[in-house]
Amino acid sequence: MQPGDQLANHFRLTDAQKGALAKLEIKTVRDLLFHFPFRYEQGGGEASVSGLVAGQEASLIGTLEKLETKKGWKSRIPMSEGYLRDGTGRIKLRWFHQPYIAKMYADGTLVKAVGKVSGKDGKIYLANPELQKISATEAGLFASQENLSKKLSGRLSTQSGAADFQTFSQDLPAPSKFFAQYPESRGITSLWFRHAIEKMIKEGALEMVEDPVPFELFKKYNLPTLKTALVWMHAPQNLKDAEAARKRFAFEEVFFIQLERQREKLLQSREKSFAIDAPQKNIDEFVGAFPFKATKAQERAIETILKDMKSGYPMSRLLEGDVGSGKTAVAAVAAYAAVSTRPQGQSYGALQVAYMAPTEILAKQHFESFIKFFETFPINIGLITGSGCYKFPSKIGRGKSTAISRAQLLKWVANGEIPILIGTHALIQKSVKFKHLALVIIDEQHRFGTDQRKQLARKDAHIPHLLSMTATPIPRTLALTVYGDLDLTLLDEMPAGRKHIITEIVKPDQRDKAYEKMRDELKEGRQAYVICPRIDEPDPDKAFALMAKSVKAEAERLKKDIFPEYAIAILHSKMTPKEKGSAMQQFVEHKIDILVATSVVEVGVNVQNATMIMIEGAERFGLSQLHQLRGRVVRSNHQAYCFVVPESRGEQTLARLKALTTAKNGFELAEQDLLQRGPGELSGRKQWGISDIGMEALKNLKLVEAARHEALALVKKNEHLLQHPLLKAALAQKALAHHFE
Ligand code: ADP
Ligand code: MG
Repeated sequence: MQPGDQLANHFRLTDAQKGALAKLEIKTVRDLLFHFPFRYEQGGGEASVSGLVAGQEASLIGTLEKLETKKGWKSRIPMSEGYLRDGTGRIKLRWFHQPYIAKMYADGTLVKAVGKVSGKDGKIYLANPELQKISATEAGLFASQENLSKKLSGRLSTQSGAADFQTFSQDLPAPSKFFAQYPESRGITSLWFRHAIEKMIKEGALEMVEDPVPFELFKKYNLPTLKTALVWMHAPQNLKDAEAARKRFAFEEVFFIQLERQREKLLQSREKSFAIDAPQKNIDEFVGAFPFKATKAQERAIETILKDMKSGYPMSRLLEGDVGSGKTAVAAVAAYAAVSTRPQGQSYGALQVAYMAPTEILAKQHFESFIKFFETFPINIGLITGSGCYKFPSKIGRGKSTAISRAQLLKWVANGEIPILIGTHALIQKSVKFKHLALVIIDEQHRFGTDQRKQLARKDAHIPHLLSMTATPIPRTLALTVYGDLDLTLLDEMPAGRKHIITEIVKPDQRDKAYEKMRDELKEGRQAYVICPRIDEPDPDKAFALMAKSVKAEAERLKKDIFPEYAIAILHSKMTPKEKGSAMQQFVEHKIDILVATSVVEVGVNVQNATMIMIEGAERFGLSQLHQLRGRVVRSNHQAYCFVVPESRGEQTLARLKALTTAKNGFELAEQDLLQRGPGELSGRKQWGISDIGMEALKNLKLVEAARHEALALVKKNEHLLQHPLLKAALAQKALAHHFE
């Protein structure tokens, strides 16, 4: 059995199973081996039917009988009913609101059922039990668990310590006492996975998988080899082994990401870029024309960036700063330096800048900001988005921009007449050709590799400098991992004069008071955001769907019951870009007082007159996301307010949200998210391209640092090692997975 073999060649699969495997993206033997369980069920502790009493949580092994769909006798609630029989008798099973369960299992299916014994003694039943199909051998195992663990305990204890894992011998005869639970899909169960993997291991699939990572590395960190780790993952003898295996895979994933980043960095250091060297006098003049005094942090960032770009080697820098810390102004200075530099060997024209934003709203906003920054300088600025192109200045007036055709814009970009082009993704389409692209500025994007930079440059030209900017507060471990190839500059200072934002956790009975405060501000001519977790009301068919506030219903309610005298509009992701743009524009122009929105307003939108944000269903958001939402109102010099309204009154919820009032910055909140809610809650997690196991590693700074250290050492010392075919294949595969888009 080879790792690359199609599963269909080794297993007889039903159509349902084929469909399920396809859905889980499992095609080959290797895919299946790397389909990891997310938890383990321990055998043992099973009760028997005859001894059950009401109120007890019970775990039973037996066969199903007479499953059928019913309606509750008085309540008319749809439900499933049936029996579970073991050697000592049978007990009724009941699933309220889950009529489909009866159709999922045939009579005689052997299962483990876990649930609460309910009803009165004499008339007891198992309420909403969880069923897990098991095999006869497993049932036997569960039953004889007591004996088994006694038999094994002597040998197991010598294997549990990480230092001893080398001595682990795979010929241990005892079957696992932990039952792996896998991500399932309709048509395929954990039981199937356990059996299929057992079969593969028996048939020698493990002998064929090769470890792409140098073995000494794992030895050094006391982590199991690939083969051992796979066994420990799927059929652990104890949970410590399973954990060691997970750790190994987490380490491996972070190591590969780091390897790729460090290699990227190395490759870049060999490229040439444009030497951008604008006279300091001009820079001072440009910065001096700002309508504000730059913060010390901005000054430092500007200095570093200018120095990078002077060197002639490509800059790869990440500018990280909380919302409102003034990243756009720093970007403008970098752009100014580029466009005031002549292309080499030319006595006219300018180097070019591409400035990419994640949404049209933001691209437009950056365009407006740049127009202000460059108002008195003779520079053309273009805007390209999916819904239209603009150029500044217009022929009619210096202070205005004008809509132009895409073809015209592209022509001017290609001949260098438009040196600054701002836009969305439309900016990096093939049809967009620059003459002398020297600087790429990316706002709130996560990855942008050398290849993409090369694509943007002309074939014969140097690769452009890269300034990446983000306000997404991420924990240190994640930053080290995903931004391993970038140099980091922090904007850790807010512009002077900003008032500290007043954040209040609003309990359900204080809602009216919050509205009163909002009314006061609206009367003063200020504007407000109301954020809801959903767009629409939940589907009424899904009886148990959570009742989160929706943008549409909440906007109607506010208009009808609370703020009839004010203009209210909505903004959410299902609107077309045009609708979104126009809602936002109306808000900017203060034709709207209250904007009810989903978290789409999260990234970078800037309306200085908006001083309040009310966040409904706040516990549904991560702390760092809440922080970013709150960032919508920190832009102005008016006192700003953030009302955080949870749905529940739970102590824990309140305690967690409280961190919003005490944490010093977004990074602290991101760390808290990671520790309290786990890596799944980190904002933007989908974009990082890291698997669940890899994300788990992020809780472990030491592990991440070790992986980084090793990757760096490998790239530095043994560049030829990167040519090793297995490493190369693994890298190529992972690079694909981890690259932005
Ligand atoms: P972000 O870092 O979130 O992108 P922006 O660049 O949008 O922040 O800046 C937020 C607001 O602060 C803008 O209106 C900008 O003009 C203003 N601003 C930037 N730097 C300063 C400063 N040093 N002093 C005062 N206001 C500033
Ligand atoms: Mg910004």
